[in-house]
Amino acid sequence: MKIITIIGARPQFIKAAAVSKAIKDYNERKRENTIEEIIIHTGQHFDPNMSSIFFDEMKIPKPNYQLDINSLGHGAMSGRMLEEIENILLEEKPNWVLVYGDTNSTLAGALAASKLHIKVAHVEAGLRSFNMKMPEEVNRILTDRMSTLLLCPSENAVTNLKKEGFDDFTSKVFNIGDVMYDTTLHFSKIAKAPKFEIPGKFILATIHRAENTDDLSRLKEIFTAFTTISKETPIIIPIHPRTKAIIEREKIEISENIHIVEPVGYLEMLYLLKKSSLVFTDSGGLQKEAYFSGKYCITLRDETEWIELIENNVNTLVGASSKRILEAFDETKKIKADYSNAFYGDGDAATKIIKTIVEYT
Ligand code: UDP
Repeated sequence: MKIITIIGARPQFIKAAAVSKAIKDYNERKRENTIEEIIIHTGQHFDPNMSSIFFDEMKIPKPNYQLDINSLGHGAMSGRMLEEIENILLEEKPNWVLVYGDTNSTLAGALAASKLHIKVAHVEAGLRSFNMKMPEEVNRILTDRMSTLLLCPSENAVTNLKKEGFDDFTSKVFNIGDVMYDTTLHFSKIAKAPKFEIPGKFILATIHRAENTDDLSRLKEIFTAFTTISKETPIIIPIHPRTKAIIEREKIEISENIHIVEPVGYLEMLYLLKKSSLVFTDSGGLQKEAYFSGKYCITLRDETEWIELIENNVNTLVGASSKRILEAFDETKKIKADYSNAFYGDGDAATKIIKTIVEYT
């Protein structure tokens, strides 16, 4: 059987690492009727610390196709990906196209495959923010509708699909757990300290969502709150290239206890998470990793796809209001959070993904 994996952005490399390993393990066990995995890297993320570091550290097989499509508007990027992926699919004739998450690479891969009647398996299916202004929300809804196998990370994701009528469609919906839990469990064992110096106590923060970076007033509000908080606890921010460019362009002042560092690899990220006292983020993945690491998360967004974390008081939504960020920070000092619920499965999502794909081939 041949699977074409389509990836292009940092969180997709991290998720694909677990699945590529599961394919390797499957092949070692079976020895015949094995799975051939062909990897297409669209090039959406291309900086070494946003791309190749993950392939090296997480031992992801080298991409068979490297497309180098980036730094374009949504339309041009998705369009060029669609055209190039279609050519590869016509040539390779895979049984499956495997896509992850909610980026333009996800949408282009699913669309190219479905037009050629190639089955699509979508990892992280069923997530919804119910905010159609997010490019990710558009990508994930369309990808889900084109997929044959909807591999959901949580029960809430399954419920979302049921509400959209997926029970009546020919596609199959499964809760297989979150593949990011697999990677956290596996790579935590070899987490490594970054090269820069780390304060004894610190908060870990990331900001990169378009709603925060493209709206200057939101970004400024966040940094106003961070300036106050960092007087009490220093903040480390591995900065996304998009956010870095805006901070530089707009000359946003960064106070001395806010440590802006280059993006780190996954092993360093897990180390920072383990040592941090609290997480501020607008990332999807980091909200769950904070939970897996037993760290409270203050989410700098107006909504989240991971509502079970909110409902269980291990995460709070504060948007980008300086006042609400500061209030939530004070509130965390009193919170006794419970991190023991298995919202995201047992850490064997990658094995289940492969098992399900084999079953439906
Ligand atoms: N991450 C990383 N290095 C960094 C920042 C983030 O390895 O400097 C990891 C993070 O731990 C998580 C993933 O990147 O696994 C999240 O990616 P991102 O926030 O870019 O995307 P999202 O999850 O919001 O789609």
